[in-house]
Amino acid sequence: MSEISNKRIYSAIQPTGMLTLGNYLGALRRFPALQDDNDCLFCIANMHSLTVRQDPEQLRERIYSLLSLYLAVGLDPEKSILYLQSQVHEHAELSWILNCYTYLGELSRMTQFKDKSSRHADNINAGLFTYPVLMAADILLYRSDVVPIGDDQKQHLEMARDIAERFNKVYGDTFVVPQPFISRQGARIMSLQEPDKKMSKSDTNVNNFILITEPREVIMKKFKKAVTDSEAEVRFDPEHKPGVSNLMNIYGAVKELSSEEVENVFRGARYGDFKMAVGEAVADALEPVRERYEALVSDRALLDKVLKTGSEKASEIARGVLADVYGKVGFPRG
Ligand code: ATP
Ligand code: MG
Repeated sequence: MSEISNKRIYSAIQPTGMLTLGNYLGALRRFPALQDDNDCLFCIANMHSLTVRQDPEQLRERIYSLLSLYLAVGLDPEKSILYLQSQVHEHAELSWILNCYTYLGELSRMTQFKDKSSRHADNINAGLFTYPVLMAADILLYRSDVVPIGDDQKQHLEMARDIAERFNKVYGDTFVVPQPFISRQGARIMSLQEPDKKMSKSDTNVNNFILITEPREVIMKKFKKAVTDSEAEVRFDPEHKPGVSNLMNIYGAVKELSSEEVENVFRGARYGDFKMAVGEAVADALEPVRERYEALVSDRALLDKVLKTGSEKASEIARGVLADVYGKVGFPRG
């Protein structure tokens, strides 16, 4: 049995780039075990990805690519709802309503907004600012109980809870207040070159991330280049040794070992050997996923069918919840 049972579980990933090891360890890898004992929805959050400029053709490809990865890690469209956000129009509609129950002050405290607006200073659009409201709409639209997330989304989830509680207080029980589900390991994988910031698929420096679909040689090369420090000791100390600690965290997450166990494995090891061992462990874990991904990604007929069925199932739930919300706020039924 999985860690959680009999819950509605919701998670979304943006098709903003090929997925990284961070997305894999913090999110994707944890999904398949949940689908047997729970009612799961896995969304491709393409509306969120427009908050940063996207090339239309590339965005289309990345949607198929993300869906293929969902399938490649073992998500089963018979067991879970796999769907595309823009194909369920209720997300946009609920998002508007929730915008009217969200304050500018709380939005401006969001670290993702501060971070992304500094990285995209030429395009600080309103969508980037109200991103957490759309995310709250995604989750609340399905009365989700549990949301598996990486550490970086904790603040947004907290906000979704606040919005749900605020709405419920005014109109009576409408939304389920969702719980975050954050893994103990792999929740925050850092950049390989700049280990003080998180590994992110929309990063412009390709040496900062490992992609799930990258071949072994590339993975090894990037680990070889990964930043460490001037000491020569594999010791877990994120504050003073962020690079080494990140590599230890990656190894521990992949091999399911605690940081003490990882320290024991590499006691006395040279950094070069340590980095190669981490690279090998990662490449071994990702290889089967990449092989399944490659077999799936060009089967557009299959992928379109999965999306269509998933979006129909998601719409059915979303329609009911939105109708309830409209009724509560005083919008007559059409
Ligand atoms: P972007 O840079 O476009 O925001 P991203 O890599 O942050 O891309 P998202 O689609 O925003 O990816 O997030 C998908 C999921 O992956 C979320 O659950 C998020 O918490 C998780 N995640 C993202 N980055 C990391 C990371 N470095 N370590 C662990 N989990 C992560
Ligand atoms: Mg992100």
